Amino acid sequence: MNEPLPSDQDASGRSFGDGELALLAEVLRSGTLCSTRGSVVRSFERRFAETLGVRHAWACSSGTAAFHTAVAAIDPEPGDEIVASPVTDMGALAPILYQGAIPVFADIDAATCNVTAATIEPCLGARTRAIAVTHLFGNPCDMRPILDLARGRGIPVIEDCAQAFLARDRGRTVGTLGTIGVFSLQQGKHVTCGEGGLVVTDDDALARRMNLFINKAWGYGDPHPDHTFLALNYRLSELQGAVALAQLPRLAAFVARRIANAARLTAALRNLPGIGAPQVRPESVHAYWRFCLRVDSEVLPGGVVALGARLRERGIAAAPRYIQKPAFACEVFQQQRTFGASRWPFTLARPEALDYRPCRFPGVVAALDSLLVLPWNERFEEKHVDFLAACIHEAAGGLMREAA
Ligand SMILES: *Cc1c(COP(=O)(O)O)cnc(C)c1O
Repeated sequence: MNEPLPSDQDASGRSFGDGELALLAEVLRSGTLCSTRGSVVRSFERRFAETLGVRHAWACSSGTAAFHTAVAAIDPEPGDEIVASPVTDMGALAPILYQGAIPVFADIDAATCNVTAATIEPCLGARTRAIAVTHLFGNPCDMRPILDLARGRGIPVIEDCAQAFLARDRGRTVGTLGTIGVFSLQQGKHVTCGEGGLVVTDDDALARRMNLFINKAWGYGDPHPDHTFLALNYRLSELQGAVALAQLPRLAAFVARRIANAARLTAALRNLPGIGAPQVRPESVHAYWRFCLRVDSEVLPGGVVALGARLRERGIAAAPRYIQKPAFACEVFQQQRTFGASRWPFTLARPEALDYRPCRFPGVVAALDSLLVLPWNERFEEKHVDFLAACIHEAAGGLMREAA
């Protein structure tokens, strides 16, 4: 195969077409580009809520904004703690600090790269106000024991589903298991309008607060509106809403294709020493935002770095580690660079909450050292999967032979 693999960063890996154009044209002709007056973002929210089977969905301007909206609705006191994964997008962490709360990092299970009830439990304390989980790469966290933990303490769970549209845990769609689900519509996600996000919940009071937070806490349609608390303008425009809405009817088919392709690649990699396909629990459905290999450097000489380099020589954008370092190793956490020179809200934190020594995170260290993220999107066909499989076999075989 000589053509490059489809990329979700351009038309080769995305599926925009006449549906998007028609809705965009309709919005432009209407002259109403703002969602407070238009109907397209409202339709998108309704359709998304129906798709998930949830009472409320609100669109907003990014996944980061969506996560911020979730945290703001939970309304922690300054210095309260939210347990989170250090292997996630910074968009799921920065909003915690913006709301004056402290992310307390839980270790991850090296096999799935997800937090578990066992890794979360030691992080819980008197100041824990919420648990945030990321369904990394589209692979659902084992939610039942996590929800049991949260219920026992009477605290909410935020599910970051930015990479996990229509993934399922024990038959239920992720985003509807916890208290609030958060989604991103950024360029590389399962549904996109360039930038955008969504929050979903079954809780009427949280839904009301989230809608206000996206709208500067101005209650549109209220008899006596006022700016009732500190909040931002996080609205999605009608133009973005049109592009996102047009994709929804095709979402399930796109996810199904990602899953079918993943099954094909998983089968092709079976019995390849030192290389593992994603580990999916039998009671869950992985939505395959990305297909991640786990590479055992004890078995495959050179490990993930050598394999990644070989695949890149074949034009495959294979990325070792996913993120270069865990979130707590980034300067914002190491230097506590926040508001002026104040270091707030880190100044409010318990010292143990800021203990970022690698020995506390053996799962994170092991996972990042063995992860190889492969490109993956809705436009992959069997020939692309077969090409990937052949390149992986060839590269792994070469590394084994050269070391022998
Ligand atoms: C993409 C992403 C976000 C942030 O979304 P943006 O739309 O880029 O702000 C948050 N969490 C996870 C897990 C993501 O993948």
